[in-house]
Amino acid sequence: MDVKVGDILTMKKKHPCGSERWQVLRIGMDFKLKCLGCGHQVMLPRSKAEKSIKSISRGEKPPVAKKRGMEK
Ligand SMILES: [Zn+2]
Repeated sequence: MDVKVGDILTMKKKHPCGSERWQVLRIGMDFKLKCLGCGHQVMLPRSKAEKSIKSISRGEKPPVAKKRGMEK
């Protein structure tokens, strides 16, 4: 799983505040994530965090960047 600082992760499980999007603040043994809904910050072990990621979005790229063979 290719996660970088600044990425926005969409998680499989929603935070109690209703948001499922988290910003990556720090990466190491643990990921430090900030909930984009309420600003709550958590530390998650890398293995656990990677398991709960649904998709990653980075910069202007949409979360799902599948090629459809129709690009110019
Ligand atoms: Zn939250």
